[in-house]
Amino acid sequence: MRFNKNMTTPRPPIIEGPPVIAPARTKPLANPRDWICQQCLWIGRPKTYTKGSIILELFLWCMLVVPGIIYSIWRLTSRAKVCRVCGSEAIIPCRSPRGLQMVDFK
Ligand SMILES: [Zn+2]
Repeated sequence: MRFNKNMTTPRPPIIEGPPVIAPARTKPLANPRDWICQQCLWIGRPKTYTKGSIILELFLWCMLVVPGIIYSIWRLTSRAKVCRVCGSEAIIPCRSPRGLQMVDFK
C-alpha cells in the first residue's frame, strides 16, 4: 500500500480523566483585599476606571503633542476604582472601619 499524504491517521480514543473538583472555598466572607460598594453592597475587587477615551488620547498625541500630554495627565489623575456591578465610585475597602461595619451589616 502506498502512503497517502491525505490519509488521516486514526486518532487515539479520548480518555476522560477524573472530574475536576473545585477546591473548597476556605476564604472568609470578606477578603481583606476586597472592597465594598456603598451603592449596591457588592463585595469584591474593584475595577479601575479611566475617564476619557484612548482613541482621543492617541489622536491628540499624533496631532498635537502638548494637548496629548495634558489629556494623558487628566486621564491618569481622574482614574478611580469603581464597582464592577453598578460602576459607582462610592466604593471603600472592606478592612476600613466603615467597610467592616457594612460587611457586618450585610
Ligand atoms: Zn455597586
